Amino acid sequence: MRTHIHTQRVDVLVVGAGAAGVGAAIGAARNGAKTLLVDAGPTVGGELLTGMTIDGAVNARGELVVGGALTEIIDECKAMNGFVGILNDYRLIRYVCYDPEVMKMAIVKVMARYGVRLLLHTFAEDVVVDGERVAGVMVRNKTGHTLIQADSVIDCSGDGDVAAMAGAAFEMGAEDGDLQPVSIMFRMSGVEAEPLLRFVREHPEYVAVGESDVIRGGRTDKQLVEALYEQGQPCVFFKGEGPFLADAIDRQEMFPTALIMIQPTSTPRKEVCVNATRVWNVDPLKTDQLSATMPPLYDQVWTCVQFLQQRVPGFENAHFSAIAPRLGVRETRRIIGEYVLGDEDVAKARKFEDGVAKGCHHIDIHGRGREQVRIPVADGGSYDIPFRCLVAKGLANVLVAGRCMSATRVAQGTARTMGPCLAMGTAAGTAAALRRTENADVPFRDFPVARLRETLKAQGSIIDGTH
Ligand SMILES: Cc1cc2nc3c(=O)[nH]c(=O)nc-3n(C[C@H](O)[C@H](O)[C@H](O)COP(=O)(O)OP(=O)(O)OC[C@H]3O[C@@H](n4cnc5c(N)ncnc54)[C@H](O)[C@@H]3O)c2cc1C
Repeated sequence: MRTHIHTQRVDVLVVGAGAAGVGAAIGAARNGAKTLLVDAGPTVGGELLTGMTIDGAVNARGELVVGGALTEIIDECKAMNGFVGILNDYRLIRYVCYDPEVMKMAIVKVMARYGVRLLLHTFAEDVVVDGERVAGVMVRNKTGHTLIQADSVIDCSGDGDVAAMAGAAFEMGAEDGDLQPVSIMFRMSGVEAEPLLRFVREHPEYVAVGESDVIRGGRTDKQLVEALYEQGQPCVFFKGEGPFLADAIDRQEMFPTALIMIQPTSTPRKEVCVNATRVWNVDPLKTDQLSATMPPLYDQVWTCVQFLQQRVPGFENAHFSAIAPRLGVRETRRIIGEYVLGDEDVAKARKFEDGVAKGCHHIDIHGRGREQVRIPVADGGSYDIPFRCLVAKGLANVLVAGRCMSATRVAQGTARTMGPCLAMGTAAGTAAALRRTENADVPFRDFPVARLRETLKAQGSIIDGTH
């Protein structure tokens, strides 16, 4: 075998082009860094393209807690009629709904504006470590092997591949090794919102509403489903323990699940995204195990499509329109950073002097079958994510952002949502660009965070001033 190794040099290398990587690449390139974004897949956006809503960006009070790259890509979606709105689920959260087909183009447009270079179909397979520095990341694609050298490397691989290969410590799953289930999202079009909402208004016991005191606002379930009806959008969460879904599971008309969550993706297509499927006892880092989830998940998709068409008003004439481009992984490695975001930090909406991003989604840990933990953030507020959670402990020039950030399992259960992932990415990319111009040799653990916070604020990130 002949192996020729190509080399490339950039200022900032971002590995992984999901929500965090998109934020990181935009943050770095916008601040003048020569930025390369590498992804193993054929496109950019990761879970942003599956049809799910962006959660953790608007708190239960309705305050926007994430700006930066999120604002830019949503503005681009708006310009292409791909924005549905910020909606209230009258359960726990408010979320950002958009058309994932438009999102595909919006992300690429914003990246092109700032000159982000893309390298798709490219897997980061190894690292070259020099003391505390990652001197290079070895990638593999059809061109062959390339060693990419960068001043700063941002690991947005979701799984923390780069940091782990470089020797960073990590934790994974619960103490007993349990991991959240793997799922696949799908979409249905031709859904009539009014009959669906009427059905829910007649049966408040079927759905989850008012699980946050702030969202409930002293209202009864009946008043909350009335508000859902008035909102007029197909935002419905049929709960696994509610009689409608529970009976269907008992009759084996549906598979065991905690939810059928329906959220709008396109008004002209009358399209919704459905989050319902799940296969547990899977270690997503074991590629054979992950791959083996595809047949049962696809079976579940079809079961759920038929269930909705046959049992749920508004879906009688709806049809299956899309399946997510990838299997959905909720948790793998959590890289240990200079600070580990804790259970109380998120639950009590704690703020930090070195906060560089925020999140506000409830603690959301899916379990086996019908299990799901859902705990709201105190007072409908938001928590800060300190810069130290992005600094991989023991590595001088590596940041982590996204679901592989430094957090306890509980804290990751909220910070893994796409709002905070975009915000963490924006902060990490901006820090890497600033490091290059101002503090090239300073390890990230000693990085001047005050300067980073100023830059983030000046560029539209939300760092202060929210509940
Ligand atoms: C079923 C499901 C439902 C969810 N629902 C919601 C929701 O409704 N709202 C919400 O906000 N969040 C939701 N989440 C959580 C959220 O989508 C993810 O946690 C978040 O998108 C993670 O973003 P990320 O950028 O960290 O990682 P990812 O989006 O996973 O992106 C990682 C990228 O890195 C690439 N990559 C990985 N390893 C390598 C490597 N070695 N070399 C090169 N590239 C690599 C991958 O191809 C991928 O594109 C859900 C998650 C799942 C699975």
